[in-house]
Amino acid sequence: MENLKTEKIKIPLIDVREVGFVKDLKQGIAKVEGLPSCVYGQLVRFDSGSKGFVMGFNMEEVLVVILGTEGAIAVGETVTSLAELLTVPVGDNFLGRIVDSLCQPLDKKGEIFSSQKYSVFKEAPGVMEREPIEEPLATGIKIIDLAIPIGRGQRELIIGDRQTGKTSIGIDAIINQKGKDVICIYCWIGGPHVALQKVISTLAYKEALKYTIIVSAAAETSAAEQYLAPYTASALGEYFMEQGKHVLVVFDDLTKHAWIYRQMSLLLERSPGREAYPGDIFFLHSQLLERAGKLKKERGGGSMTFLPIVETLQGDISGYIQTNTISITDGQIYINTVLFKEGFKPAIDLGLSVSRVGSKVQCAAIREVSKGLRLEYSQYREMLRLTKMRTHLSQEAKEKMRRGETLHELLIQPNETPVSVEEEIVLFYAFQRGILDSLLAPTLQKFVNEFFSYVRSEDPALVQTLKEKTNITSSVLGALTIEIKKGLDQHFIDYFKKLKVEITGL
Ligand code: ATP
Ligand code: MG
Repeated sequence: MENLKTEKIKIPLIDVREVGFVKDLKQGIAKVEGLPSCVYGQLVRFDSGSKGFVMGFNMEEVLVVILGTEGAIAVGETVTSLAELLTVPVGDNFLGRIVDSLCQPLDKKGEIFSSQKYSVFKEAPGVMEREPIEEPLATGIKIIDLAIPIGRGQRELIIGDRQTGKTSIGIDAIINQKGKDVICIYCWIGGPHVALQKVISTLAYKEALKYTIIVSAAAETSAAEQYLAPYTASALGEYFMEQGKHVLVVFDDLTKHAWIYRQMSLLLERSPGREAYPGDIFFLHSQLLERAGKLKKERGGGSMTFLPIVETLQGDISGYIQTNTISITDGQIYINTVLFKEGFKPAIDLGLSVSRVGSKVQCAAIREVSKGLRLEYSQYREMLRLTKMRTHLSQEAKEKMRRGETLHELLIQPNETPVSVEEEIVLFYAFQRGILDSLLAPTLQKFVNEFFSYVRSEDPALVQTLKEKTNITSSVLGALTIEIKKGLDQHFIDYFKKLKVEITGL
């Protein structure tokens, strides 16, 4: 008895894994029985070699999404759970590359070597790890930077009908990050391959590819790939954010992501809810968008900004996915088809667009020149609607209309032409001072196109000061100091003299 007590019992080192079998197989999704203790996102291996990840549970079965093609998988085949969660390789080598939802290269530029792996369904940083959003993320689109400013770490929804310039806003924001030390990720979900090709060539032409990663899950890829793409893009972004860098991610678009999730859920025989979407669609998108944010200094101080795109049908923002995403994000840029057809591009409707982070993310100079702009433009649109006949207008109303027209022209901006913060300050300072009120449309366009280059060539020091002054974030100082105002005013006088000589020949 004594002997038995002291004797050590040796347990052989065994790798305990559960083994189940495929019960049913449907369009890339397998129902597996016999894996009672697996968790969401866990990897499993099929006997025939393919892998899959756990996406949900029923009372008796586990729902597994097959990675790659169904291929040789058969009903009755054994499935083994693996001791790992679904991960993707991440790292600096991904910059400038086009990858699929599992971070495998699609661009024929060879293998991508990575040092680390990140979980695809990583949990968002907690509240104590975050900091308030206060730094601006300049998009180079005048109307956005002035009226609906976006901050680093914010989630701003881009919402609008088909073919109204949603993708263009995302792409322009990426193009504008050139030389600003911001890593960009463009995530293409469920769209045609040809359209993505166009985006890639634009980014390449604008030299934006070297700081951008493209995650592509085009329409022809499997449902699993399309479902995974935004999570993979976030994991790639998280790698850079945790290194203290700033990241901008564009999801183009989440409507298609919701469609693919609906398709998968219906195949899994989950009970459909509103618009046939499963009940957890809100969770799906909130879990994803929660991963954006600004980390505390102790965590490196990095940030990840999300620009998710959502499509509407005939401007209806009361659809299920639309209302969900509006309520999850920190504001929306609403694109109005009527404005687009009228030629006001980017066709952003200032009445329905908002940035909940607000003007505190604007630099002091931009905040100063954009004061009252939104209200002035909204009043102009309202007056335009009410007064089709201009003859009975009072003098004051006529002046307001005149200023509104000028503002309208100033806010029009072709895509792929981002404007620097200095230029935005100069143009809108001129508007605020009323300098542009007397100019008619063609001359105004000439002014918009030429004036900043004129100041830059005449007075590079002033432009440099403007560039530096924009970094002052304290509103007390006010970025537009008297010297700058004086300098600019003198340039306006000189420029208009030059313009007058050009126009009248005198
Ligand atoms: P889809 O619904 O197909 O995804 P979308 O809403 O993403 O379309 P875009 O592809 O960005 O729209 O743009 C549609 C068209 O409008 C393109 O031809 C683009 O060049 C043009 N466009 C977009 N923005 C502007 C702009 N600011 N000025 C002039 N043209 C623009
Ligand atoms: Mg698009």
